[in-house]
Amino acid sequence: MEFLPIFLATRDRHVMVVGDGQMADAKCRGVLKTSARVTVFADNPSDQALAWAQSGDITLRVGLPESTDFTDVALVYAAHQSDQINDEIAASARREGAIVNVLDRTEACDFITPAIVDRDPVVVAIGTEGSAPVLARQIKADIEAMLPDDLGRFARLANAFRARVRALPEGLARRKFWRDVFKPERMVASASDTAIRQDFEALLERHMRSEPESGSVAFVGAGPGDPELLTLKARRLIHEAEVVIYDRLVGKGVLELARREAKFIDVGKKGFGAHVTQDVINGHLIREAQAGLKVVRLKGGDPSVFGRLDEELAALSQYGIESSVVPGITSASAGAASLKQSLTRRDRNSSITFMTAHDAKGYAEHDWRQLVRSGQALAIYMGRKSASFLQGRLLMAGAEKNLIVTCVENISRPEERRFTTTLSSFAQRLDDDHWNGPLIIFVGIGQDKKIQVSSVSTVKEAAHGSY
Ligand code: SAH
Repeated sequence: MEFLPIFLATRDRHVMVVGDGQMADAKCRGVLKTSARVTVFADNPSDQALAWAQSGDITLRVGLPESTDFTDVALVYAAHQSDQINDEIAASARREGAIVNVLDRTEACDFITPAIVDRDPVVVAIGTEGSAPVLARQIKADIEAMLPDDLGRFARLANAFRARVRALPEGLARRKFWRDVFKPERMVASASDTAIRQDFEALLERHMRSEPESGSVAFVGAGPGDPELLTLKARRLIHEAEVVIYDRLVGKGVLELARREAKFIDVGKKGFGAHVTQDVINGHLIREAQAGLKVVRLKGGDPSVFGRLDEELAALSQYGIESSVVPGITSASAGAASLKQSLTRRDRNSSITFMTAHDAKGYAEHDWRQLVRSGQALAIYMGRKSASFLQGRLLMAGAEKNLIVTCVENISRPEERRFTTTLSSFAQRLDDDHWNGPLIIFVGIGQDKKIQVSSVSTVKEAAHGSY
């Protein structure tokens, strides 16, 4: 490390900026966030500099500084277009004891300014010692997305509460209290200052009685696999979780977003095969939440689509455990995106059914004729084992043999693969090519030059014709 990261006090300090370009304005903007007094020397002051001068934020002087101007100046930004002038400014400034930042020349700088994420009084500074400013900006964007907008207000309220916390014994008890204060679920942007203060009071009371924080469970949609398809909320909750309960369909990359110290519980179950029973899963949820922990129950895709969400919610509510649901991208949506197809399309299908071909009792029965007749497209979940059954039922109900069918396996994962064929041949093809991964079967959606996509209207006609 060539540069020592520090936060410098600016109260009663004088800062000088020399230069009139955009960069000089940018430096100025940074310093103006502080309480320092700012003088700008410019040959041709920018509109921005003139506006700041007018509103009294800076003192504006035309031309270059004289050696006497550096008296009592703490920091100088030499942001003139001319390197030579910048060198002269730096030399004069140093003679008077100031430290200098020289525009675009890290090697000539006494200090450099980091990229910052500003949630005053919480400030994150990111530096690359001039080696990769673009990288610094990317990191900044990531951190911006991570920190609630309201963090600063929250930190100020917490600071104002410090005196009250002396009611707790020094050391561990106070640290535990602050750890609970800064849990992100407390930092609700919509909460008023008064509500936040009351929340602190209630928390303090619980800590004084040494009652642990109550646990909770968030059902979080993990999407089809690609971590980039998570919502920001899902990403935050996964990162904060103390316990992560997940099953087979949750992508590895998603799990990696959790903290290493979190407790991971695998409740993977495979269709028709040996599986962890719902009671066992409910048991995990209840036990961990009752231990006061923040539990994230990850569910592939969207938790509300064939996700057995209701059973788990009901179990929690029986025990009075707090819960929430965070939606995710369901496999059918991600599959359609990958195919660059719409789930609905004018003149093709005005509705789509998300359906499963098997349920708790085995093969799922539907009103097949109605499905075929309605002229909609189908997105079939959990259809692998029942592919032949499905095919038979749809054909029997009058669907056209040549109806287009697209199968997409492992959607959004590196192993993703797909084929498009006809209703009469897709099941055989799944068997022949040993497709065993999670799969969506789209009926009436797809694109293949050899297969005519009159799809749904064909279904309709066939339905009328055959019965
Ligand atoms: N809640 C999930 C569905 C759970 S049911 C969602 O919204 O997507 C399990 C079925 O989802 C699997 O049998 C398969 O049909 C589908 N599925 C889940 N992840 C998938 C993926 N990455 N690719 C293809 N299908 C997937």
